[in-house]
Amino acid sequence: TVFADLGLSELLLKGVEDVGYLHPTPIQEQAIPIVLMGRDVLGCAQTGTGKTASFVLPMMDILAGSRAKARMPRSLILEPTRELALQVAENFVKYGQHMKLTHALLIGGESMAEQTDALNQGVDVLIATPGRLLDLFDRGRVMLADCKVLVIDEADRMLDMGFIPDVERIVSMLPPLRQTLFFSATMAPEIRKLADAFLQNPKEITV
Ligand code: AMP
Repeated sequence: TVFADLGLSELLLKGVEDVGYLHPTPIQEQAIPIVLMGRDVLGCAQTGTGKTASFVLPMMDILAGSRAKARMPRSLILEPTRELALQVAENFVKYGQHMKLTHALLIGGESMAEQTDALNQGVDVLIATPGRLLDLFDRGRVMLADCKVLVIDEADRMLDMGFIPDVERIVSMLPPLRQTLFFSATMAPEIRKLADAFLQNPKEITV
């Protein structure tokens, strides 16, 4: 299989070519067409499997094909740590060189003023850790009402770090009619319960 078989647009295929990926990894091969169809995904995959591109690439395609309402963010990627959020943002920038999508990186330990400035410009995608996102939300700095694509990445680490109540609160503020992509390295009963609460008729993918 090559990336061109998965249904991605030309502009993204160029982005993938820029970074030098030749063939999709198993999670990419399975997840990308499903996400492009608009379905929810429950992905059981570890870091290192190419899982980031499996949600970032099709999400970018979905966003490129639709319009922002009043410049509100249309997609939210939740990561348990600053480092992971930063990596996702770096990938987003690399793949999207031929596109006009924008993002804000909302993580702790960085200037809130700069993050607020980015939000005020209007961005397509929020890449965030739960604590900082809630902090900005509670200060009225970020709108979640138009986030119709949600990624919860590394759910098992969110659980280990005690972030589940924060994640539940964030999800409760998103539109109920949305597409949700949920990834975890393990599927312990607690994780599965969360997935059941957040996902609708998901396609399960295990690699
Ligand atoms: P991830 O599991 O998303 O953290 O990705 C692990 C590493 O694999 C990252 O350095 C990616 O840039 C790289 N990678 C992702 N997809 C591919 C691919 N299809 N071909 C080669 N490398 C890839």
